This record gives sequence, structure tokens and C-alpha cells, in this order.
Amino acid sequence: MERFRMLIGGEAVDARSGSTFDSQNPYTGQSWAQVPDGGPEDVDAAVAAARAALDGEWGDLTGFARAALLRRLGDLISENAERLARLEVNDSGKLYREMIGQLGALGGWYHYYAGLAATLEGRQIPTPNPNFLVYTRREPVGVVAAITPWNSPLLLLTWKLAPGLAAGCTFVVKPSEHAPASTLGFAELFAQAGFPPGVVNVVTGQSRETGAALAGHPGVDKVAFTGSTATGRAVAHAAAENLNAVTLELGGKSPQIVFADADLAAAANGLVAGVFAATGQTCMAGSRLVVHSSVHDELVRLVAERAATIKLGDPNDPETEMGPVANGPQYEKVLGYLRTAQDEGATVAYGGVADEGLGGYFVQPTVLTGVTAASTVVREEVFGPVLSAYTFAGEGVAAEDEALKLANGTPYGLAAAVWTKDVHRAHRVAARLRAGTVWVNAYRVVAPSVPFGGFGQSGLGRENGVEAVHAYTENKSVWVELTGGTRDPFTLG
Ligand code: NAD
Repeated sequence: MERFRMLIGGEAVDARSGSTFDSQNPYTGQSWAQVPDGGPEDVDAAVAAARAALDGEWGDLTGFARAALLRRLGDLISENAERLARLEVNDSGKLYREMIGQLGALGGWYHYYAGLAATLEGRQIPTPNPNFLVYTRREPVGVVAAITPWNSPLLLLTWKLAPGLAAGCTFVVKPSEHAPASTLGFAELFAQAGFPPGVVNVVTGQSRETGAALAGHPGVDKVAFTGSTATGRAVAHAAAENLNAVTLELGGKSPQIVFADADLAAAANGLVAGVFAATGQTCMAGSRLVVHSSVHDELVRLVAERAATIKLGDPNDPETEMGPVANGPQYEKVLGYLRTAQDEGATVAYGGVADEGLGGYFVQPTVLTGVTAASTVVREEVFGPVLSAYTFAGEGVAAEDEALKLANGTPYGLAAAVWTKDVHRAHRVAARLRAGTVWVNAYRVVAPSVPFGGFGQSGLGRENGVEAVHAYTENKSVWVELTGGTRDPFTLG
């Protein structure tokens, strides 16, 4: 068993109650780490530490100084990528092969936002009154509560931390109770990078009350949340009570539209990447295949054939292509959706059941056909390796209209893909998709510089890109009187 402690005010601490809970490895089914079971009193202490850091040395640093710290942190992540990747694998069953790549790239986020920390500029603004100089200042919004889910904890945390630290904010982080250890391991790097105590604090807790205490804490100025739509709604309510800014990255039911002229082999590969990579446990999973009826059978055959060769097994084995579902409740949820789909008339082209021979929470990569826009598995997020295929027909723009009606037919709008060789059609359809990200002839690509977020019930606001730093600032206007004279006190302007 590895033992971890929380980070509050620069100190490694236990929960004030002294209690702990275990993190389970979903592949072995064994507890592998013991972490503090923090509660509201630990949240109070962490928020106070974050406030003190904001009012202290950190608050006085220039953007250039923050940039230097962010660059050092980025370097340290690369130096520690191996250990951090192993923590993620043990915590959530993600593939080592994916996590070592993710950790290798993660430092790039801090380097990118280091550039923005040093170039965060205000503006000088002309007004009708020549007696004033007016300029704006980008100031940190303050103490940020960052609440993260169990899939890719460090990547999704970085999407909050990197822009927020660039802007000069301080943080209280609450990772998921299902995968708390990697964030605690990662937190050890902040002191090494030279960040002052209290700039980043981490509280872990088994009860969802710990997250709720943080989201609604009166000492917090902004809440940045990634997780399910249902929890996101609760977080938004809590933030609204304090009139706090909120960023929500929520669930999805992302469509991949495949037109008759598409490169079907490439599309099949993109479908596998979209829904079987990471065992389908990504917010951007391309879980709906919206395919032209003339190529439906051929494409389903290609995807099912590849699904049959996917190597399930030990997430630490570099040959493994799909690991287990990350925890017991999620495993039951995925199997429940598979039963419901079949009860509602879906046909299983491949998979459809658990893979019990491997131990752990394995579900076979599954391709379902014969679903409709009304099927539960088409409307609700499964968050597992389940692709649901349904068709559109027609030619030309009429085919596009039909495809878009299906693709846009859920309350979600996180991501989408268009597969076609027709460049005109690709841009027409991309423009009409209601999704925060559209890939053309590709799937599941992200970068620090490209905004990511959702339409509709997939979220609020954007992470990544230049705008993400602005979302962690308040824009202050400063009016400077230039004449030294007095003016009529009873008029405006
Ligand atoms: P979840 O919503 O159950 O939990 C997310 C986090 O919120 C956890 O840390 C949890 O402890 C905390 N929490 C629970 N109740 C809370 C409350 N009342 N107030 C404040 N915090 C609370 O989600 P999950 O099961 O951990 O993750 C899976 C979900 O996350 C999926 O729906 C997935 O689509 C979504 N997700 C979205 C993105 C994105 O960027 N859009 C990325 C990854 C995951």
C-alpha cells in the first residue's frame, strides 16, 4: 500500500478527523493506496491557505515570475512522467501506454500558459472625454475551486491549473473519490518547482459532501468543474448562491457522421479511437455512429472486425489496447445500458457483454445496430466502450440535413466528427454541428492552444486556448483624470 497525504498551505497533512480511505486498482480489484478522508473542516483550511497565498508573496509576483514557475513545473512533470503515469494506471485502470503519452505531453500545457502569463495585457481605451486616460488590467479572479472526475485526473486538472496559475489565481483541488492518489502525487511537485505555499492545495474525501462543501464555499471566487451533467448542475447552483464564476466541462453523446464518400477504413479507425480508446471513458467519446445507409453494413463490419481483435488486459502491459472500466459502479452502469439496449431492440454486431475471464471490470468493446434516435443508449451517456449505429439516407444537401438532424438530436454538444472526402460538404456540416469541437476526418485530438468545451448540456465556458486565461481574470477599468481640475459633482460622465 502506498500512503498519500493532502497538501494544505504547503504542508503534507492528514485529514483533521484522522480518517482515511482506500483507492482500489480496478484491474487487480485490490486496494493499492491509502488517502486522507477529508471533510468540510479540511476544505475550510485549504480555502484559508489559498486566500493567504493570494494575499501574500504569490499575489505580488509578476507574470514573468509566474511564467518561470510554470515552465519549471512543466519540466518537472516530464521528469516525473513515469511515476505519475503509474499512479494514474493504478488509480483508474487507464492504459500505461496512453498515460505515459499523456504525461509526456502534459508539461506542454504549463509551457504554453507560461507564455500567456508573461503576455497578459490590458488595453488603453479611448473615451469621448479627452480629460481621461483609461486602461484595463487583467487581475486574477481569486481563489479557485477545481473539482475533477476520475478519468484522466491530471490532464483535466491541468486544463484548469495551467491557465488559472498563469492568471495569478490560487487553487483548492478536489479530485474524484474514485481516483484520488495521482493528484496527491502530482501535488508534491509544486514545492519542488518553487511555488509559494498555499498556491495549490489538494483535499481528498470519500464523501461527495467534500466536493459540495468546496463548490459552495463562501471563500471561493470561481468554481472550475469537470464531471457529469447532473453534478455540474448542483455545482452551478452552489456557485450561483455565492454569485461566483463557474466553468463546467460535462458529459457528451458525441456523433461521428460518416457520408457515403468517406474513406471507410479511416472512418473505422476513427470510430475505434473515438469509443474504444480509454475504454470509452472520455467525455468526448464518439459514441454515436450516424452513417449513410449505403455504407452502414460495410462500416459496421469493419469496426466489428477491429473490435474483435482489440487486446483487453493488464493496463500496464504495453500490448494492451483496452483496460477495465474504472470502478464498480461504472461497470454496473455500462452493463445496465447494454441490457436496456437489447431490451429496446438493439442488435449486437459485436460484444454486448462483460468479459469475465480477465477478472476486474472488463466489458467487451461493443457495436450496437438497429437503434433509433429514441433509444436510451443513443440519448444517454454510457461512459463505456459502446458504439451505437443508426442511419440516414438521401443524396446531396438532403442527406446532410437528415444526418445533422440525427447528430444534433441530443441535449449534449461536446464534440463531433465528419467523415467525407468532399471539402465543401465537410465545412458546411462542421458549421451546422452543435458541438464545441468538430473534427474532420479525425477524432480525439486536443492541444493546449485550442479551446475545448461544450454546447448545451455539455457545459459552460471553454478550457484551453488564450481565452481560458481570461476566464481566470477579472477585467478592471482604471480612469485617470489628467487635468487636475474639478467637475460638476451632480452630473455623470
Ligand atoms: P461526477 O460528476 O460524479 O463527479 C465529479 C467530481 O465532482 C468528483 O470529484 C466528485 O466527488 C465531485 N462531486 C460530487 N458531488 C458533488 C457536489 N454536489 N458538489 C461538488 N462536487 C461534487 O463525475 P465522475 O463520475 O467522476 O466523472 C464522469 C463524468 O465526467 C462523465 O459524465 C463525463 O462525461 C464527465 N467528464 C467530462 C469531461 C469534459 O471535459 N467535458 C471530461 C471528463 C469527464
